[in-house]
Amino acid sequence: MESPSKQCEQVARWMAEARCTIAFTGAGISTESGIPDFRSPGGVWSRYRQIMYDEFMRDPAARLEYWRQRSDPEMDMSAAQPNAGHHVLAQWEQAGRLQALLTQNIDGLHQLAGSRRVVELHGTARRAKCQDCGSTFPARPLIEAFRSTGCVPACPACARDRLKLATISFGQPLDPDVLEEAFAWARRTDLMLAIGSSLVVEPAASLPRLASQRGARLVIINREPTRLDAAADAVLHGSCGELLTQIARWLE
Ligand code: NAD
Ligand code: ZN
Repeated sequence: MESPSKQCEQVARWMAEARCTIAFTGAGISTESGIPDFRSPGGVWSRYRQIMYDEFMRDPAARLEYWRQRSDPEMDMSAAQPNAGHHVLAQWEQAGRLQALLTQNIDGLHQLAGSRRVVELHGTARRAKCQDCGSTFPARPLIEAFRSTGCVPACPACARDRLKLATISFGQPLDPDVLEEAFAWARRTDLMLAIGSSLVVEPAASLPRLASQRGARLVIINREPTRLDAAADAVLHGSCGELLTQIARWLE
């Protein structure tokens, strides 16, 4: 296998040649910002029962449990800051080297780093959305209100109690428009960088697969093997922040 440094140089060369480079990111790009990923054993996600969307919709007790989980300080992403990996991707977009960013993350860190063309496949935890009237609100004050009162917050617009973070819950379909936009980018790209994702969650994981099947180069950046390694043109093992920084140096 080639050395990591040689691989970064190769990816930089591919980026320089590409007409349309797309990044696809997962929870792994945010672990260096202190947000645990989904699969780490003993992580915050494994301590909680998954609340299905239909349960949330029909059962007040499930809504209470949902808000209890989301206000756990370990689950709360609102204080996290972008890391080197997020910053590199934002700089590439500004420099015209990255055409779009598709993300499974709900932490909003790409936008905080300055990325503008971000397709959030699973929504955002920075806002809450009323499931009855559709109004959205910043999430942080609602989480703080729950912490101090222990009551499921009422919607400031319609006063009902089915406010949920503006993320896709288990058992909730993805937004078809968002999904279509992501697939359009996956069909258009000729270089897809899949960064910090185990590539197991569907349908999001079909995006890098589709790009690769349509002839795009596929680069996987992860500290562990992923489902799609065999289909990739290069697999870079290591930290997202460090590898992206190295590629950026070669590009300069
Ligand atoms: P995942 O947890 O399934 O996979 C993360 C991957 O990143 C793993 O393969 C791991 O080996 C790798 N990784 C972790 N830290 C890394 C690092 N510093 N450098 C390189 N690789 C690293 O994540 P997923 O594929 O995104 O799926 C998880 C689902 O849960 C997503 O759908 C997402 O909506 C949600 N989630 C989001 C966040 C977030 O917004 N930050 C956090 C946890 C879960
Ligand atoms: Zn409402």
